Amino acid sequence: MAKLYFYYASMNAGKSSHLLQADFNYRERGMATMLWTAALDSRSAGMVRSRIGLESDAHKFTPETDLWAVISAAHKVQPLDCVLVDEAQFLEPAQVWQLARLADEAGIPVLCYGLRTDFQGALFPGSAVLLGIADALVELKAVCHCGRKATMNLRVDDSGAAVKQGQQTEIGGNDRYVALWRKHFSQALNG
Ligand SMILES: [Zn+2]
Repeated sequence: MAKLYFYYASMNAGKSSHLLQADFNYRERGMATMLWTAALDSRSAGMVRSRIGLESDAHKFTPETDLWAVISAAHKVQPLDCVLVDEAQFLEPAQVWQLARLADEAGIPVLCYGLRTDFQGALFPGSAVLLGIADALVELKAVCHCGRKATMNLRVDDSGAAVKQGQQTEIGGNDRYVALWRKHFSQALNG
């Protein structure tokens, strides 16, 4: 039975490098994969990029992309052994269900990688559905400056000060994030 996986973490936990390693492991065995990332992430420009230097081309999804239609059509031409989705927090809830259908009806394992929560500690809509319906939830760990596990994402401005208000996603913005343990996140956000 193919499964829908959600690898979730804060920033800088190595999600993209984990995705690219999983992709490599499939392709090394001669298997076919398909990579996706969010079109609205201007940093990625259609690439999955990791901080340690690995990168790969990827298809880009927008909120309008019908992932079931596009991927199941490709699967009929060239059978796919795995679908990997980066920036999965940006998936629409309906798109998460489309990915679940690919696992259930087309028999393709789907590996999604994304942030659990935004800069105010709220679930991203795509992540909320993934946490609700994925077959397997895997936490990838980042480290706070104090050494504890970092689960939260603090948005900071150019001077490094906490940004407390704003859109969940700053499209095309220069926003930066710091991964923090929850206590240090709360102190920065409420202090
Ligand atoms: Zn800390």
